[in-house]
Amino acid sequence: MSRVYNFSAGPGMLPEVVLERARDELLEWDGAGASVMEISHRSKDFLAIAEGAENNLRELLAIPDNYKVLFLQGGATLQFAMVPLNLLGGKLGGKKVADYVNTGHWSKKAITEAERFADVHIAAASDDSDFTTVPPQSSWQLHTDTAYVHFTPNETIGGLEFHWTPDTGDVPLVADMSSTILSRPLDVSKFGVIYAGAQKNIGPAGVTVVIVREDLLGKTSDNAPSLFDYQKQAESGSMMNTAPTFAWYVSGLVFEWLKEQGGLAVMEQVNERKAGKLYACIDGSDGFYKNHIDPKCRSRMNITFTLARPELDSVFLERAQEAGLVALKGHRSVGGMRASIYNAMPEQGVDALVEFMLAFHQRCD
Ligand SMILES: *Cc1c(COP(=O)(O)O)cnc(C)c1O
Repeated sequence: MSRVYNFSAGPGMLPEVVLERARDELLEWDGAGASVMEISHRSKDFLAIAEGAENNLRELLAIPDNYKVLFLQGGATLQFAMVPLNLLGGKLGGKKVADYVNTGHWSKKAITEAERFADVHIAAASDDSDFTTVPPQSSWQLHTDTAYVHFTPNETIGGLEFHWTPDTGDVPLVADMSSTILSRPLDVSKFGVIYAGAQKNIGPAGVTVVIVREDLLGKTSDNAPSLFDYQKQAESGSMMNTAPTFAWYVSGLVFEWLKEQGGLAVMEQVNERKAGKLYACIDGSDGFYKNHIDPKCRSRMNITFTLARPELDSVFLERAQEAGLVALKGHRSVGGMRASIYNAMPEQGVDALVEFMLAFHQRCD
């Protein structure tokens, strides 16, 4: 068996020890006589897994007691709709306006979906810099009657990240953290809702984590499907229907692994170091490789770069593949290259990529 270093933006790599443990426990989970995939989501055995996962996530992110943690389905994309359906407060007469910050591809997706339910007001945007910067807080103009402010702390496709948390006063702040959650410590108390599809930095595809402040529950639009109601999901322990048991279980193994690594403060150091090595390689290449993002807003998770000679793109990708460095092709909407280096990408994987990039540059000069 030879595993490659997989730089895919999502689903991304999982820690090898997590996969090994899932394999070892696959046929029979902890004396249950059956696979975790074959037992009831309401069984004592699975409830222990579910609760353990939630508790470890709470510990890792230091989630305050007045927040619910939900394990839902539908991906981050369903949250683009569930956020307005829950936070406009439709049941109580409600608000019509929701503020959005537009920093690129995923912000725009969230905006387009929210427009089905809300009058979207763009509070800030970085389209004037072609999404190479994040708009400074001083430029944000919130609507006077907004229900919440939504932003995307890490734009997975552009490779653009907020390295600060916006302050929106009493207006609930909502964050799509799909590609940055668990990469560093977080002050959850600054947010109304945090959501993230699992397949980047949490676990396998199929489960979506939603962290929601309790006072925001119970206002869901009357016509929303009951599965979309945060409060009902919270009351049922995210088990209104059959939960995504296997993805939930593997996510729990990832949380245990993160604790063993020393928690998120340690992950942050490792992630800074990993990203730093790649950016240093790009910046030190005399323009052979180029990253277009404002250095203050560069993503630590998704490092985008182009080759000065785009005719070399396909050779670069082929040779990288031969070297066991896969999925480096940038998103079809932006082209170039993208190295996604989530928590589970070992530092040796980044070192191998840097070594490859230096050698490739030398050969092409
Ligand atoms: C991947 C991604 C999504 C889409 O997630 P799904 O789980 O596929 O719906 C949304 N937002 C961001 C920031 C992402 O990286």
